Amino acid sequence: MRIAMIGTGYVGLVSGACFSEFGVSVTCVDKDAGKIERLMRGEIPIFEPGLDQLVAGNAAAGRLSFTTDLKAAVNGADAVFIAVGTPSRRGDGHADLSYVFAAASEIAEALAQGGNDPPGDRTVVVTKSTVPVGTGRRVERILRNTLPPSRFDVASNPEFLREGSAIQDFMRPDRVVIGTESEHARTVLGALYRPLYLLETPMVFTSLETAELIKYAANAFLATKITFINEMADLCEAVGADVHDVARGIGLDGRIGRKFLHAGPGFGGSCFPKDCQALVRSAELAETPLSVVETVLRVNEARKRQMADRIIAACGGEVAGKTLAVLGLTFKPNTDDMRDSPSLAILPVLHAAGARVRAFDPEGMAEAKKLMPELEYCGDAYQTMQGADALILITEWNEFRALDLDRVKALMRQPLVIDLRNIYQPDAMIAAGFTYHSIGRPISQGGSEAMTETPAGLRVIA
Ligand code: NAD
Repeated sequence: MRIAMIGTGYVGLVSGACFSEFGVSVTCVDKDAGKIERLMRGEIPIFEPGLDQLVAGNAAAGRLSFTTDLKAAVNGADAVFIAVGTPSRRGDGHADLSYVFAAASEIAEALAQGGNDPPGDRTVVVTKSTVPVGTGRRVERILRNTLPPSRFDVASNPEFLREGSAIQDFMRPDRVVIGTESEHARTVLGALYRPLYLLETPMVFTSLETAELIKYAANAFLATKITFINEMADLCEAVGADVHDVARGIGLDGRIGRKFLHAGPGFGGSCFPKDCQALVRSAELAETPLSVVETVLRVNEARKRQMADRIIAACGGEVAGKTLAVLGLTFKPNTDDMRDSPSLAILPVLHAAGARVRAFDPEGMAEAKKLMPELEYCGDAYQTMQGADALILITEWNEFRALDLDRVKALMRQPLVIDLRNIYQPDAMIAAGFTYHSIGRPISQGGSEAMTETPAGLRVIA
């Protein structure tokens, strides 16, 4: 089988590479000539663990290629996937579908010019981008303006991979969702995903509209889970409970599940904020407001702002003239993606309050420098801490989980750690001589006041 992937970003490149690993012949297309040139030279334009080997292996085997020539890629393909961006439209929060519709028009023209190759052939045009309900129908109309219905089928196949574990997520998904009314599309997509049948991956066949909504509903639900545990963490702090134990205690209930119950600085990234926004806007248009999701968005935005206040409070109410060491800038570990990262909401506030902010991230700094040029960027974690008045952990990269605490203490002016991801144990940090703040866990300040004696129900006083 032969497919074309239109858009070679986080989703298009990973999906394309994984399909080629399944044995499919894949051409990845992007209009960004620089990106395609790098890929053709064997460079990977994003950081995603394992992607370099997967791309190199399949390119060498002749199953994976890259081009800016959409027409050449599309003609003769059994399926063409649209995997372009659907960012928030500036101003109103609706999904910006201009890239999807532009891609659909280009596909239509390319197929029309190409003629039937081979005669009688049909091409399945599959939307992989996250798009609001009704988009698939609009893609269908765009194609129908140029092509006879006998030449194409449309389908929705939303992607659920997560950056940082994208290959594993694509290769071993919890389910594959395929929305289409076409028997031919079902057959083609079923064949493309055949290797997953061996793993007994559930295939959810639905209508276009349902498939589109499944993706938004999943993201909104996960964002709600995160926001729920974040608010629980605040309550834990107020009453002397431990959010880790609360999360474990509720997560062991099979109806709830343990995942996405890690309290932190608020969700970010390239999907949850913009997808929740777009879902809320779609629901408003349909006159069925989603007040739960609206609240999640509001609470999450406020939370990111509160994190800066929390840091300032931990620094004694003032950061002017202080040096802050920051570890982690990306919205999650194992990615270089800075889109909507909580660090973007927190660090400019600290800088504006007069702090000198010295930061390190293993993969996100090239992008962070463009977005926050006012910060100082360091070569490694320990460099940030030189003479620092506080150490702030924003992203839980593995390399930050086992810092040499004696070295950290020796480098810092003040042994103050503010851990927004709860990657250290309060007792251990206090024993190591740090003043330690984390999220939703009983903490004693200064090391001597053991919180184990604090009665539940009383506010923990620093
Ligand atoms: P991205 O910005 O990394 O990549 C999109 C690519 O599409 C860019 O390289 C851009 O140059 C290219 N492009 C745009 N228009 C084009 C055209 N007409 N022809 C060829 N190339 C074109 O975006 P992404 O993160 O890969 O997201 C893509 C879609 O997948 C979005 O709808 C997103 O919501 C969804 N999604 C993303 C993730 C994720 O973790 N990033 C996960 C699941 C779903």
